[in-house]
Amino acid sequence: MSKFYGAIEAGGTKFNCIIASSPTEIVDEARFSTTSPEETIGTVLSFFKKHAPLAAIGIACFGPLDLNPRSPAFGSITTTPKPGWSNTDIRGLIQRGMDLPVSIDTDVNAAAIAEGRWGACQGLDTFVYFTIGTGIGGGVVANGQPLHGLVHPELGHIVLKHDHQLDSYSGFCPYHADCFEGLACGPAMHQRWGQPAERLPSDHPAWDLEASYIGQALQSTICTLSPERIVLGGGVMQQFQLFPLIRQKTQTYLNHYVQSPAILERIDEYIVPPGLGTRSGVLGALALAQFPTY
Ligand code: ADP
Ligand code: ZN
Repeated sequence: MSKFYGAIEAGGTKFNCIIASSPTEIVDEARFSTTSPEETIGTVLSFFKKHAPLAAIGIACFGPLDLNPRSPAFGSITTTPKPGWSNTDIRGLIQRGMDLPVSIDTDVNAAAIAEGRWGACQGLDTFVYFTIGTGIGGGVVANGQPLHGLVHPELGHIVLKHDHQLDSYSGFCPYHADCFEGLACGPAMHQRWGQPAERLPSDHPAWDLEASYIGQALQSTICTLSPERIVLGGGVMQQFQLFPLIRQKTQTYLNHYVQSPAILERIDEYIVPPGLGTRSGVLGALALAQFPTY
């Protein structure tokens, strides 16, 4: 059997694909723009076929996804607002195109798996990976397994307190307006402040507000899931001044209720950037290929 695997980080803007046997042995890599499902998946299949035979494929995919192995739509993208991609059987199309085992999970569950295997959450059983970027998503590994449950966690869409006097912005989420993603994703920052987040100076009040929303979301996440560590990735988290602000706000919102030294004394090691930098998603796809979870 080949020691090489194909891994796809499937995003709404681009598909990032690698051929690898481990995170340190990546023999090829390619990025393709996300166009129609037929064209994009066709391009991915041609790339993988150049490297045949492969052992298996992993897909870390934008969602929502059907991850119920007993469902007829298992491995499909379900209700995405991304034009043309609703009800795309991405796993089936890749599986039939390559005739190989294909594992799929959400981009953020996959990123969490990779952080657990090779990154900032090694040795832990229960942890959360958030991306704060074009959207907000949270992946969960609970007791060593990615959490699916009914569908899969949708931590980007939890409801936060929104003080309309302090922040009159109505929110960006097409479903809930001012949910976590609606208030704190990159495009929400852009719309609220009239310029892209990456152009806001580091002392702009935007960052304190952003940290407040993220801190609230982490308070709820800690109370709900009891993670041993939380990793924050995605474009907006390139602003490293956010980390100390978020740690402090999370402690304030928890108000000493959760009595763990990890939070009370060692929060710098509890809320952390990805150990794998911007590679958590694609390496998550590699982990799915190498170590399928179902
Ligand atoms: P995606 O979520 O599409 O995979 P990113 O994680 O890069 O991509 O997120 C893109 C969003 O992050 C955009 O809204 C952009 O404005 C914001 N962003 C990207 N880089 C930075 C940066 N250095 N500082 C602040 N915001 C950023
Ligand atoms: Zn929402």
